[in-house]
Amino acid sequence: MEMSLQLKKILISNAFFLIAEFLSEAIYLSVDPYMRAYEHLRQLESVFNGSQIAKIIDSRSKQYPLDTYVIGDFGWRSLTTGEEEAKDPELSIRILPDFAKLPLSLRLGVLGMPGSTAYFGFLEICEPKAGETVVVSGAAGAVGNHVGQIAKIKGCTVIGIAGDDEKGKWLVDELGFDHFINYKKPYLAKTLAQYAPSGVDCYFDNVGGEISSTVLSQMNLFGRVSVCGSISSYNADYSHLPKATITQGFIVMKQLKIEGFVVHRWDNRQNEAFQQNLQWINEGKLKYKETVTEGFENIFKAFISMLQGGNIGKAIIKV
Ligand code: NDP
Repeated sequence: MEMSLQLKKILISNAFFLIAEFLSEAIYLSVDPYMRAYEHLRQLESVFNGSQIAKIIDSRSKQYPLDTYVIGDFGWRSLTTGEEEAKDPELSIRILPDFAKLPLSLRLGVLGMPGSTAYFGFLEICEPKAGETVVVSGAAGAVGNHVGQIAKIKGCTVIGIAGDDEKGKWLVDELGFDHFINYKKPYLAKTLAQYAPSGVDCYFDNVGGEISSTVLSQMNLFGRVSVCGSISSYNADYSHLPKATITQGFIVMKQLKIEGFVVHRWDNRQNEAFQQNLQWINEGKLKYKETVTEGFENIFKAFISMLQGGNIGKAIIKV
């Protein structure tokens, strides 16, 4: 029979006094596309990986006193002990910085890993200049909408690509994107040429596949492409290489710079992204949206829904 959460808490709490210095309870859990991409690396019966915001609910630790809020890569579980954290440094617990009256959950999105991804992945690789035309795919997701808003702050013309007109309305009406293209409708190439008559200078690529081949074919000389993700192929069978339209000719003739990245490249500069994103939020220049699913038991549903485009902004679980 399934043990109740209450009973689990009592048992773990008792054990905790013998073996660990703190016990934390999840408040918000993150669901992110990388979990799908890395799924084949996971050991069976291991905890599904992922970040969470948790509260210290029992403590003998000076470092993590009672009622402290922390962020850690504890995975999809509700309770974590200090002993588990000590055994596995990759759980990487950190005390939440103070961001005044803003919701704690933002540390999983605009003020966390996706926020740093947008900040560094766009600014460091695309090096956007005022007046340039920027295209963002996966534009209504956690990273994409943030990139588009930074591009607007930098004075660029921004075209967002996503799979739903309601998302497009949010991007244009509320976030100030200049144009939106629904990739599920026909004529992506024609519509892009109409919105970017002088060509594309920067492309922030969250999705890969045919959408990206189309954008690459309309880039300007010395255009820059930041390859952040390729969600269109996360379900692909890599024993047979997935096919996409050939783009090498455009890359050579337009002398494009195309660079992939993993956000951890800038781990030693995380505070810079955090402070700048926080400042932009406080100045009203950076908006955020969360798609919140209530209940730990709904985490799989929320994960699948996010992969299928069910989220606007950051997808999170409120436990
Ligand atoms: P999102 O919030 O953007 O959620 C995923 C979105 O992808 C969905 O909402 C859906 O929106 C879109 N999507 C799903 N399938 C497809 C498809 N076949 N073609 C086009 N779009 C699709 O996720 P994140 O913002 O968290 O992540 C965006 C990308 O950035 C991902 O590829 C992720 O792996 C990557 N990433 C990379 C990092 C790095 O260090 N390189 C760090 C963090 C994220 P729609 O309705 O538009 O289809």
